[in-house]
Amino acid sequence: MNKRRIYTLILIVILSFAIYKIFICDRRADMILINGNIYTGNDANPFAQAIAIKDKNIIALGSSADISQKYKSNNVIDLRGKTVIPGLIDSHAHMFGFGQMLNSIMLVGITSVEEIAEKIQEKAASTPAGEWIYGRGWDQTLWADKSFPTKDILDQVSPDNPVILGRIDGHAIWVNQKAMDVAGISASTPDPDGGKILRDQKNNPTGIFIDNATELIRKIFPPPSDLETENCILLAAKECVKAGLTEVHDMGLNSQTIRVYKKLADEKKLPLRIYGAIDAPSDTWNEMYKNGPTIGYGDGMLTIRAVKMYADGALGSRGAALIEDYSDDPVNRGLTLLSDSEMEKIGTQAIEHGFQVCTHAIGDRANHVVLNLYEKLIAKSKKSDLRLRIEHAQVLDPTDIPRFKALGVLPSMQPIHATSDMDWAAARLGAQRVKGAYAWKSLINTGAIIPAGSDFPNDIMQPLWGFYAEITRTDQDGNPIGGWYPQECMSREEALKSYTLWAAYSSFQENKRGTVEIVKLADLTILSKDIMKISPEAILTTEVEYTIVGGNIVFKK
Ligand SMILES: [Zn+2]
Repeated sequence: MNKRRIYTLILIVILSFAIYKIFICDRRADMILINGNIYTGNDANPFAQAIAIKDKNIIALGSSADISQKYKSNNVIDLRGKTVIPGLIDSHAHMFGFGQMLNSIMLVGITSVEEIAEKIQEKAASTPAGEWIYGRGWDQTLWADKSFPTKDILDQVSPDNPVILGRIDGHAIWVNQKAMDVAGISASTPDPDGGKILRDQKNNPTGIFIDNATELIRKIFPPPSDLETENCILLAAKECVKAGLTEVHDMGLNSQTIRVYKKLADEKKLPLRIYGAIDAPSDTWNEMYKNGPTIGYGDGMLTIRAVKMYADGALGSRGAALIEDYSDDPVNRGLTLLSDSEMEKIGTQAIEHGFQVCTHAIGDRANHVVLNLYEKLIAKSKKSDLRLRIEHAQVLDPTDIPRFKALGVLPSMQPIHATSDMDWAAARLGAQRVKGAYAWKSLINTGAIIPAGSDFPNDIMQPLWGFYAEITRTDQDGNPIGGWYPQECMSREEALKSYTLWAAYSSFQENKRGTVEIVKLADLTILSKDIMKISPEAILTTEVEYTIVGGNIVFKK
């Protein structure tokens, strides 16, 4: 054979391989979705009917005819007009706590103290003496008497079992005498820094412990085992994918939850993606920050690249740090939980080692302090694009609102908190200050973007309910008519972005997810109705049909 013939032969082989690759092999998809009503979230190309998915990624988008013609798959799903949106992300939540709540007595939404007592009595009847009874989610603002409850009613129904009941916001606990006996609490126990024990006139604890004081009781629990932690996380994850979530930002991991998450990722048991923030100050943080973040572990299911600190408490229990006194509690301005220097030390460690800083700040004073801290950290750091986050950013002094955009700080907010809190927030804050509370549109108008979340289990997990709250600022019965400070409502487009693209941006993942686009991961939420068009009330009865994570169906109705 002469040289020329050899070259020709080689050329033919290469060409046929390329033809095979382009026209046959690459035209096979792992899954094809057709006849959908797809909101891509990509402003340049907002709608599509069909998606082809291969190797976890979206490889093609277009009309149903086009995609059906170009791609073949053994797995074609006819969506029959169902609505597809980018996979929903909850930017602030607590997976283990949620699982624990699913495992304990649920007190969310109960409107009388007597009904709670009944539930405890029932549980005590079947629990051996001495064993703990756990409950979570009570909220005295829903009761006829809105003052804090006391241990007396719990003592009547559970004299022999210690009872601990967490408030809805996670910042206060309600216990009985037995629990205080076990923990060695008496009239002479002092209030710890950053915490408060409510007392009667004789100085005796009444059974309510706020913020850091809750540790006096919590510290005596036997810690959960890895198995219990794993079960709780899986229980929570199952509920999340049912609600359409493809990713959760888990705020406040410790060495145990990190160990369990890695195990679950190794065993491919995580149905949704986790973006984790390590709790600090803590032993876990001290041990782990020097090793730097974990990114895309377990096939992209687990990323741990943030630190979570607390600047103050919560508004409901008057632990949020305010610039002026509480309107319904003169002389009280709330609590700061960490000193400025402690927060600066941790923030600096985080940035130096490639972690994102997320700081819980609810009151206007806490937000002001954290913005000042961030300004300092940004000026000090040689790195850019830090995407520092304030978790909640709930009550803002008007002069601080433009600082978010100016500094590139992300307000990570929970829309459902506004409608959960609106009945009493004005009482805590007064008519003027409340205007800077849950001020989504004011922030967006300055150019800031808001990653949205629910803070579950401290509020309801359902992302579609959060979406509804964002566009209506009403409760589920539509009150108040027209919305609570309706000028702060988001548009539907903004609301969708807050749970998708903006949430992905807040975890440095906007190139991989957050929109339905070619080569992004196939993380999709498929809904029974078109939430971008239907009446707001109809959003609340919209069902999740499928939740797809990396091309895998992790939930199907
Ligand atoms: Zn939280």
